[in-house]
Amino acid sequence: MAYVYDDQNIFAKILRGEIPNTTVRETEHTLAFADIYPQAPHHVLVIPKGAYVTADHFANEASEAEIVDFWRTFGSICTELGVTPDSAAGYRIISNAGEDGVQEVPHFHLHILAGRGLGRMLNPV
Ligand code: 5GP
Repeated sequence: MAYVYDDQNIFAKILRGEIPNTTVRETEHTLAFADIYPQAPHHVLVIPKGAYVTADHFANEASEAEIVDFWRTFGSICTELGVTPDSAAGYRIISNAGEDGVQEVPHFHLHILAGRGLGRMLNPV
């Protein structure tokens, strides 16, 4: 199945500079910025600059350079925020995909949440 990317999504507009953001880190292939509606004291979104819809799309089709850059950027942000479990209380990463994942913005993004106890991962159904 081919992945279909909507280039009018909010994060595509952020990447084109059409919508402002509070940048945490920018590299050749990756942008990290503050979530506009933070759910925790630290709530950073990490996105590839490439047009990928979901984590699986990115994992399946991104170049090795994009993948390495993305995860290294993620790691350095965790270190910079001081949230890694070896130095502090830890964090959670989330990447919602599709309808069941309740993905609001169809451009692959990782949520980094930290700075408070985050509870259990899912509510029981
Ligand atoms: P999703 O539900 O797709 O995993 O998460 C999308 C996230 O994007 C939400 O946490 C939402 O607060 C955030 N968001 C939506 N619009 C904007 C925006 O214009 N700027 C920023 N910085 N975050 C946004």
